[in-house]
Amino acid sequence: MVLQTHRYSDTSKILRLMTEEHGPRSVIARGALRPKSRISGLTEPFAEGRVTMYLKEHRDLHALSDFELIRERQVLGKDLRRFAGASVLCELVLRLAPEHADEHLYAVLVHGLDALVSASEELAGTASLQQIWLLVGTLGFQPSLDACVACGRPIEEGMDTRFDHAAGGVRCPTCPPIGTALSGVELGVLRALVYGAESPRVTRKQVTLVADFIRYHAAEDLRLKSLDFLTDL
Ligand SMILES: [Zn+2]
Repeated sequence: MVLQTHRYSDTSKILRLMTEEHGPRSVIARGALRPKSRISGLTEPFAEGRVTMYLKEHRDLHALSDFELIRERQVLGKDLRRFAGASVLCELVLRLAPEHADEHLYAVLVHGLDALVSASEELAGTASLQQIWLLVGTLGFQPSLDACVACGRPIEEGMDTRFDHAAGGVRCPTCPPIGTALSGVELGVLRALVYGAESPRVTRKQVTLVADFIRYHAAEDLRLKSLDFLTDL
């Protein structure tokens, strides 16, 4: 899976890949920017292919020799919400994936991008947030939404809560009110997004919740450009 690309010279580019068998890898595609290059248009972000590369031990950059396209997903670039969602998925994997192969993470990334491709126009924003939450959970940062993060009390459906992103989840109404107030309905939507259930159209608040959570827990001091883009939409 192509996560990001950078121009390297007039004719070459560097691809940041997530591979199923070798984990994250960076490769240089020599000649990929030549007009007649067979792989130039194929090796774009969100494209998935079968890669032939020469792995050099103790080196961070490997040589790409072939890219046989499986799925391009260029449609993701034609809708800003899909593009923002897909870019966050790729940047999260780029920054946070373990160095070794992780088939499950790879599958969640592929599934997430495919879900954004097939989402209806109306639910493109919702699908983006849902796939981001699912990937965040896969990376080990799922928020606690079923028990109060302060006292452990079970959080029942419809309860008014607060989302305390720094503490990693929701606080019940009897604990000190820290974080963003969530109505029972808003908590229901957040649970549907985080657990992958069917969700109605999301509001701006849901975008802020996921962005604050990622910035605090997953991205640490790294600034994810794609997350800024998502919240600016
Ligand atoms: Zn509590």
